[in-house]
Amino acid sequence: MVAADATHEVTNEPPPLAGYDIFRSDAALVEGVSRAGAGDRLDEISEIGRRAGSPEAQEWARQANRNPPELRTHDRYGNRVDVVEYHPAYHLLMETAVGHGLHAAPWADDGPAPHAARAAKVISWYQADGGHVCPISMTYSVVPALRHESALADDLVPRLTSRDYDGTNAPLEGKAGITAGMAMTEKQGGSDVRANTTVASPIGTGREYRITGHKWFCSAPMSDGFLMLANAPGGLSCFWVPRWTPDGGRNPIRIQRLKDKLGDRSNASSEIEMRDVWCARVGDEGRGIRTIIEMVNHTRLDCVLGSTAIMRQGVSQATWHTHHRSAFGRPLDQQPLMANVLADLAVESEAATLAAMRLAQCFDVMRSDEHAALLARLLTPVVKYWTCKRAPQHAAESLECLGGAGYVEESDLPRLFRQSPLNGVWEGSGNVICLDVLRAIMREPLALDAYWAEVGLGLGADARLDDAATALQKDLTDLDEAESRARRIVERLALVFQASLIVRHSTPEIADAFCASRLVDGGGRVFGTLPTGLSLAPIVERARPVVT
Ligand SMILES: Cc1cc2nc3c(=O)[nH]c(=O)nc-3n(C[C@H](O)[C@H](O)[C@H](O)COP(=O)(O)OP(=O)(O)OC[C@H]3O[C@@H](n4cnc5c(N)ncnc54)[C@H](O)[C@@H]3O)c2cc1C
Repeated sequence: MVAADATHEVTNEPPPLAGYDIFRSDAALVEGVSRAGAGDRLDEISEIGRRAGSPEAQEWARQANRNPPELRTHDRYGNRVDVVEYHPAYHLLMETAVGHGLHAAPWADDGPAPHAARAAKVISWYQADGGHVCPISMTYSVVPALRHESALADDLVPRLTSRDYDGTNAPLEGKAGITAGMAMTEKQGGSDVRANTTVASPIGTGREYRITGHKWFCSAPMSDGFLMLANAPGGLSCFWVPRWTPDGGRNPIRIQRLKDKLGDRSNASSEIEMRDVWCARVGDEGRGIRTIIEMVNHTRLDCVLGSTAIMRQGVSQATWHTHHRSAFGRPLDQQPLMANVLADLAVESEAATLAAMRLAQCFDVMRSDEHAALLARLLTPVVKYWTCKRAPQHAAESLECLGGAGYVEESDLPRLFRQSPLNGVWEGSGNVICLDVLRAIMREPLALDAYWAEVGLGLGADARLDDAATALQKDLTDLDEAESRARRIVERLALVFQASLIVRHSTPEIADAFCASRLVDGGGRVFGTLPTGLSLAPIVERARPVVT
């Protein structure tokens, strides 16, 4: 019924996608958790899944992004304070993430498959807001690197793993829970950290130093401490740099300005300068890269989880909207060409989810299982490269499924789109990651053997996978001019790996669609170019979130 003074009745608009369990709505993720050995933890993961899909969390995310952090360098009297002020919604997001153990629980968790369980939580929660997950990821990742220094780890790890979020700017000693960041990138070099000019001068003969220099990207500058690279007398070394010194004074880390970023706006990324900043060495002098790489490997896993989340959220929004909106006489998801686009997006999201969860499973056992360690060595960069590369195109296409509504901020898809290139840049940009894969292949042949053993588990299920694996194996025997071909090599490593998982663990329709479109020549270059003869409706049906 249209009111007397109304111009029209609002029809054909979908209900909001809110009030649902983001985790339980994702069949591929739920199955992945069980396969990883965390099947007993579905209810626990569901708690954050429901939170992520709640209208409250969606509103917090909007507020935290609409009111980005602000830098306050001085107090009213002119004293340096160097604080970043966040909207209260940011702290609510952080409190929820920490409360559910996304920041570091696996290091203090006796339950089964803690890294895989956390991965599912991160994939679910990141869909509410990706920005604040940056300090969450860095806190998770700092622990294995800190363990190079047992006294420091004994002091810090209990507070890093605490479920109490304390966002105050106060000495670490008085805080129940703390967070951590990392600072490697300098103006003259981010990928090539050997170009770092920041200097660390020893104080006496122990582990204490003073750092002078700068960092060009330092995200989450309100973290309680950072792992930082600097040149000590013995070479590039890794240091723990707390925001407050152990004697309770402010460590003089000057925040020059905040980056005005494309996306990731709820999270502050800063430029910092340091003069005689107190710090403690972690690991030996000259072993900085080897020490911090432990952190980098874990943040790379989180880049995979973040981009997987972006694709899952995109496909959820796209399948939801098109199911509830009609054009030209039919629901959009029943128009054959839209069904093709949706199915293609769903296949990509499913492949990313399977790969992410298999990788996280390796992180659970790699300290005691050599095969898992070798697999993680090669798969971490392979999966990071491919998942992060697919996310921006996927987000753009998901957005387009909503038509004009997808281009409007209220739909949240513009935010998803702006966030989507970040994981590809951060923690090793695409080319650098591909070169790392080449290094692993050339210097650690056992890692490639582990990869083929893993892929072998899927062989025999689909001739297209068998042929693709044989061709790739043959091509890898000739690594002439491999550097310029590295992207093509890594892409094929990723696709063959994803296919080997999909033929074993996904539905027959998805396996057929993946092999037909990703493993044989003639596949299209955009989403929505699946060949004919596939069964698309069950693929779309599986991907569409359920709101109960
Ligand atoms: C939002 C955001 C947050 C960040 N937060 C942090 C942080 O908290 N801490 C931190 O330390 N850093 C952070 N970074 C920095 C990030 O890690 C670097 O930007 C990244 O490592 C690339 O370094 P760079 O910017 O110096 O680019 P460069 O090293 O100059 O690279 C530029 C391009 O060249 C390519 N390239 C480099 N070497 C080669 C080669 N040999 N062959 C072919 N191509 C090559 C790279 O892949 C890249 O595409 C952040 C970045 C962003 C965008």
